[in-house]
Amino acid sequence: MIIAVDGPAAAGKGTLARALARHYNYHFLDTGSLYRMVGFAVLVRGHDPRDEAAALRAAQALKPDLMHEPDLRSEKVGEAASIVAANLKVREALLGFQRDFASRAPGAVLDGRDIGTVVCPDAEAKIFVTASPEVRARRRHAELAERGEVVPFETVLAEIKARDERDRTRAHAPLVPAKDAYVLETSAMTREDALRAAIEFVDGRGK
Ligand code: C5P
Repeated sequence: MIIAVDGPAAAGKGTLARALARHYNYHFLDTGSLYRMVGFAVLVRGHDPRDEAAALRAAQALKPDLMHEPDLRSEKVGEAASIVAANLKVREALLGFQRDFASRAPGAVLDGRDIGTVVCPDAEAKIFVTASPEVRARRRHAELAERGEVVPFETVLAEIKARDERDRTRAHAPLVPAKDAYVLETSAMTREDALRAAIEFVDGRGK
C-alpha cells in the first residue's frame, strides 16, 4: 500500500504524512528533504543552485547523514531545493531511491510535490494537501520563529509565493494534484481535523 501526500510549501503535508504513517504503521519518507540535501550540498560547496552540473553531482553523491543537518529546514536551503528540483537530471537521480522506498512492506507514506503524479502514479491513495498562501505563511513564520529564525511575515509570504510559482510552472514534474487525488483544503482545519479526513479517505480506498 502506498499513500502519496503532495502539496505546496508549508501546507502541513509533512505533519499529516507522518501522522498517517504512524496510524497505519507504515514507513515514511519526506521527499522534500532529498531535494533540500542536494540544495544544501551545492551551497556548502560554494556553487550556485542554478549550476546544473554542480546540482547533478550533488544529487549523485548524496550522503544520508545530511538528513540530520540542522540547516536543512532553513528558508535559504528551501529555496535552493526548489531551484535544483527544476533540473530534470536531478529529479531522475532521486527517482530510484524514492520508488524503492515506496515499495517497502507493509506500506509507505511519501510526501512531496510529484508523488501521486510521477514517483508513484499507481499509489492506492493520493492526497493533495493545500491551504491559502497566507495561512501557509503564518504556519511557516511560526515554525521559523520556534527555531529562532526571525524573518518578517511579509518576507515569508513572498518566499512562499515565489516557491509556489517556481514549483507550479516548472517543465518537469510541476506541482499539480493528480487526477485521482483527494484535495484536502486545510486553511480552516486543525491538524486533527486534517488527519481524521485523510484517514477516512484512505480507509475508503480499501486500506
Ligand atoms: O517540501 P519541501 O519544502 O521540503 O521541499 C523543498 C523543495 O523541494 C520544494 O519547493 C520543491 O521544489 C522540491 N520538491 C520537489 N519534489 C518533491 C519534493 C520536494 O520538487 N517530491
